[in-house]
Amino acid sequence: MSTFYDMVVIGSGPAGQKAAIQASKLGKSVALIEKSRETGGSCVYRGTIPSKTLRENALRIKNMRMNAEIANFELNEDLELATLINRLEQVLSAHDTYLSNQLIRNGITLIHGRGRFVSESELELTSVSGDVTSIQSDKFVIATGSYPRHPSHIPIDHENIFDSDSILSMLYLPKSLLVLGSGVIASEYASIFQALGVKVTMIDKYPGPLGFLDNDLTERFVHAFEAMGGTWRGDTQVEEARWNGFDAVEVSCAGGEVIRGEKLLCAAGRLANVRELQIENAGLQLNDRGLISVDESLYTGVANIYAAGDVIGPPSLASASMEQGRRASCNAYDIPIGKMQQTLPAGIYSIPELSSVGLSERQAKDMYPSIIVGRAHFEEIARGQISGIQDGMLKIVCDAEGRKVLGVMIVGEGATELIHIGQMALLSDADVDIFVESIFNFPTLAEAYRVAALDVIEQRP
Ligand SMILES: Cc1cc2nc3c(=O)[nH]c(=O)nc-3n(C[C@H](O)[C@H](O)[C@H](O)COP(=O)(O)OP(=O)(O)OC[C@H]3O[C@@H](n4cnc5c(N)ncnc54)[C@H](O)[C@@H]3O)c2cc1C
Repeated sequence: MSTFYDMVVIGSGPAGQKAAIQASKLGKSVALIEKSRETGGSCVYRGTIPSKTLRENALRIKNMRMNAEIANFELNEDLELATLINRLEQVLSAHDTYLSNQLIRNGITLIHGRGRFVSESELELTSVSGDVTSIQSDKFVIATGSYPRHPSHIPIDHENIFDSDSILSMLYLPKSLLVLGSGVIASEYASIFQALGVKVTMIDKYPGPLGFLDNDLTERFVHAFEAMGGTWRGDTQVEEARWNGFDAVEVSCAGGEVIRGEKLLCAAGRLANVRELQIENAGLQLNDRGLISVDESLYTGVANIYAAGDVIGPPSLASASMEQGRRASCNAYDIPIGKMQQTLPAGIYSIPELSSVGLSERQAKDMYPSIIVGRAHFEEIARGQISGIQDGMLKIVCDAEGRKVLGVMIVGEGATELIHIGQMALLSDADVDIFVESIFNFPTLAEAYRVAALDVIEQRP
């Protein structure tokens, strides 16, 4: 027997949750399908929340080491990694309760089972105990997320060579860690483990990490990472990695060099997670980047099937996935919602934190004949001095007249929060003067906006 729902959402991560809640708020009967025992997706269990919980402890430990004159501080030898994410249980349990209540409040039927398309209107579900049922719908949202890409020359065994989903299953904090990759996940984990005292080496074929970010930010990231004791190895082609069967992972590079570390993290991008979904039975296929293609309304072009979140590719952020999920459901029922905002902030929770919105200096130079850039260093800001957050910088990129704000970039603690002030200025098309004419709380790091804006104004032609 098959049950019918107005809307079936596959995957309970940020995209699936918001899609399901939106459809139910429109008065539809909704089933949310999740193959894992837990609800919340990789965001909650393997991605955003665990990595940020570890980061909080890494920051505390780094700060305690910096305050050596107050107390001598050393981590225990053979420290279990679980100890460093001990608050995770509480965070996850609070999140789980909140999420379950939200689903119940909205009358959403949560079904735990692995979904597989039988046709464009039928999904077969296999429960953990092996029971098979089927549900039907004339509207689907695929929100099955992504999984780590495993390059063929890196034998990931989740014991010595990890991917970004398994790295936190390491039992003990290793003495050294090799990180292959230089994207967001690689940079976050590399700097977090380095702050914890692990000797980290980042290896990548590109000359610098986080290539999509402003150079000022990435240079400061590398400088801070190396100042903590980390090593950045750019322009390095990895040919092979292997566990030597005894005490180290060995990475062979083009040119013959071998780099050794106790453990290795491979962060080589992520692919759409449709391995078990059999999308071909619904008439869908992956594009040549291994993702589900959608148009701007998140429609796949097949029957009434929409897709949202990591499964459709960049920006592959929990923040964007939530909004895509909400929009997919609105669009499925022709609810007018306007175009999706293109001014998305990027937040990198490395140590130090990095964030940017709008055009980087390089992008602005490519698009405009001339630009004006204003900077503020956190060491000049009272709050930076008080809180010991002196290793930071905020930069505003403006047009040639020094009026229109084109982009804001921030490095330093609080960057991912502070960026939203710049985002609002960009979205409201404000002149840079808004940062000088508005009164901000004092002392705050937000004062950096005023200092950088004054720097722009001084350079006006
Ligand atoms: C280490 C790391 C750190 C990150 N940090 C951040 C951050 O700081 N900020 C940020 O915005 N983003 C961050 N992200 C990205 C963020 O986690 C993802 O963008 C987000 O989780 C994507 O949401 P989603 O709903 O598309 O998929 P997911 O969260 O992956 O959820 C997909 C769900 O679908 C389920 N599923 C899959 N196949 C099936 C099936 N056949 N049947 C039933 N269920 C199925 C899965 O079990 C899973 O629960 C991070 C990611 C990683 C890996």
